[in-house]
Amino acid sequence: MAKVLVFIDTPGQALKKSSLELLTIARSLGEAVVAFNGELHDDVAAELAAYGVGELYVPAAADLNDYLVGPKAAFLAAAAGTSGATVVLAENSAEGKEVAARLGIKLGAGVITDVVAVDPDGTAHKSVLAGSYTTTARATTPVAVLTVKANSVAPEPAATATAPQPVTVDLPADTTAGAARVTARTEKAASGRPDLSEARIVVAGGRGVDGNFGPLEDLADALGAAIGASRAATDAGWIGHDAQIGQTGKTVSPQLYISAGISGAIQQKAGMQTAKVIVAVNKDAESPVFEIADFGIVGDLFQVLPQATEEIKKRKG
Ligand code: FAD
Repeated sequence: MAKVLVFIDTPGQALKKSSLELLTIARSLGEAVVAFNGELHDDVAAELAAYGVGELYVPAAADLNDYLVGPKAAFLAAAAGTSGATVVLAENSAEGKEVAARLGIKLGAGVITDVVAVDPDGTAHKSVLAGSYTTTARATTPVAVLTVKANSVAPEPAATATAPQPVTVDLPADTTAGAARVTARTEKAASGRPDLSEARIVVAGGRGVDGNFGPLEDLADALGAAIGASRAATDAGWIGHDAQIGQTGKTVSPQLYISAGISGAIQQKAGMQTAKVIVAVNKDAESPVFEIADFGIVGDLFQVLPQATEEIKKRKG
């Protein structure tokens, strides 16, 4: 059976949902094997077993986390070579895509990014033109590298658990030569909300919030959602740039995207149009956001959102 190599990078104490999705896709294509960077906690090892991972490729030396992406791509290339994998799956994050691009060059492999679904024969469905179209693409090279958007499939453990076999991968001597080194790290204060890129629900605000994300935060907390923003809101300094969704921000694909006070410019749509259900709240009935919304509310977000929050809290009891 063809091997499908999933890149899992520094998961900490538990695998991210997006990694579980990649493992689920990998099993639909062949035998799931993993290139693993970081410390392997017992709970993570147990999850890898539950998701049917056959082999676990780990780097022989060099702490890859001391460097930016270059050495990770070198490790992944070595792991792909050792395993003989014909497909490599990585996250569709900015870093995942950069690693994929470098890997593509190292392996002479076709790279497909922004993948939203993969057929059992390896054909990828890809979201393009700011999410306006989905195209199908298939790499014709011996190895294909795919970066898959979070929330593309429902994670499913394997029917039978495995005992993943560790395999140590030797890295080329020049792996870290000339690579950019990380010199310091500062931990970001936890918001208690889910990670924006993988959240099942996102509440996003734009210029219409006029500096006050309070009603959006209340709604997000009632729903267990992450907070996102348009560039107008991040540029105004109302919220950090890491909350920006769009062409030059994050790409999200949640089950539910609530857009409040956002006009729906093409560059904003680029980051959220693949959301399964879009709810827009905007006081201008002519706003372009209503063209892509499944449900639209013409109204003042400062009146609409608190009512929604109150109703949700009431129903949750
Ligand atoms: P506006 O377009 O000003 O819209 C505000 C909306 O709020 C209006 O529709 C208004 O009716 C509504 N509103 C106002 N008050 C209320 C209220 N009280 N209740 C309800 N509704 C209200 N933008 C991004 O978002 N992400 C990107 O990644 C991005 N990248 C870009 C890259 C490039 C190269 C360029 C040129 C632009 C990019 N932009 C991006 C900017 C984009 O073009 C828009 O300018 C931006 O998305 C507008 O943000 P907005 O919808 O919040 O603001």
